[in-house]
Amino acid sequence: MTQSKEPPPLRCEHCRYDLTGLKRSDNCPECGTPIEGFRATFRPGTPMQQSPTWRAWFNTARIALTDLPRWYREMSPQLDHFWRLDTRNHLAVLLGSLVTLVAIWMTVLIQEWNSVRSPYGTGMDREMIFFTGMYIVAMLVGVTLAAYLALRALTLLVGWILIARMNGWNAASRRRALNASVHGANVACGIFLLSQTIALIPTGLTALIESLFADPEYAAMVWFVIAGGGAVAAVFGMLIFTINSSVVLRRANLPGSEARLADD
Ligand SMILES: [Zn+2]
Repeated sequence: MTQSKEPPPLRCEHCRYDLTGLKRSDNCPECGTPIEGFRATFRPGTPMQQSPTWRAWFNTARIALTDLPRWYREMSPQLDHFWRLDTRNHLAVLLGSLVTLVAIWMTVLIQEWNSVRSPYGTGMDREMIFFTGMYIVAMLVGVTLAAYLALRALTLLVGWILIARMNGWNAASRRRALNASVHGANVACGIFLLSQTIALIPTGLTALIESLFADPEYAAMVWFVIAGGGAVAAVFGMLIFTINSSVVLRRANLPGSEARLADD
C-alpha cells in the first residue's frame, strides 16, 4: 500500500502534540517526553514486517512472548506484505488443528486395530471408524477455522475502534488496525501451533505404546488439557496482543514524519 507523498506531522507518542518545527534534541512542549524517541526510524518493523518468511513469522511470535518491550519498540505502522503474512496465520490454524485431529483419528484407528487384545475397543467396524473419523476431522477443522475468523473479525473491530477514535475513520486508521490484527493473530497462532504440537506427544504415546498406560483415557485427558488449554490461551492471546498492538500503532509515527523537525 502506498503512503502519501507529503510526510505526515510528527506527533508526540504520549499526548499527540504536533511536534512540527521543533528540534530532535527538544522535549515535547506539552508533556515533556524527549522527541528523540519518537523518530520513525526507531521503528524498523518486527521481523515479519521486514521480510514475510515463515522464519520471520515464528521469530515475531517468539519476540512478542519473550521480549515484549522489543515487540512494542520495533512495530512499525507501515503495512507491507499484509496478505502474505495473513496467509501464514490462516495456514498455522489449519495445520495446528488438522495435524492434531488426524493424530487422534489415527490413534483411535490403531486402538481399534489392537482391540482384539485390548479391553477398550468399541467393537465398531474399522471402515466405519475410518470414514466417520474423516468426516469428524473435516468438520472440526472447519469449525476451528470459522471460530478463528470470527475472533479475528471481532479483534479487528476492537482495534479499529481504538485507533480510529484517536486518528479518525480513514484509510490510514484501517491500515493500522489491519496491521495490529495481523500481529495479534501471529502471536495467537504461534501459541496455538506450539500447544497443538506439544499435545501430539500424549496422543502419539497412546498410539505407539498403548500397553504402557494402565488406562488410555489418562492420555486422552493429558491431550485435552494441553490442546484445550493452548486453544484458550491462543484466544486470550489474540484479544490481548491485538489490543496492545492497536494501542502502540495508533500513536506510532510514520516514516518520513521526522522530516518535519527542524535541524539541530
Ligand atoms: Zn507529549
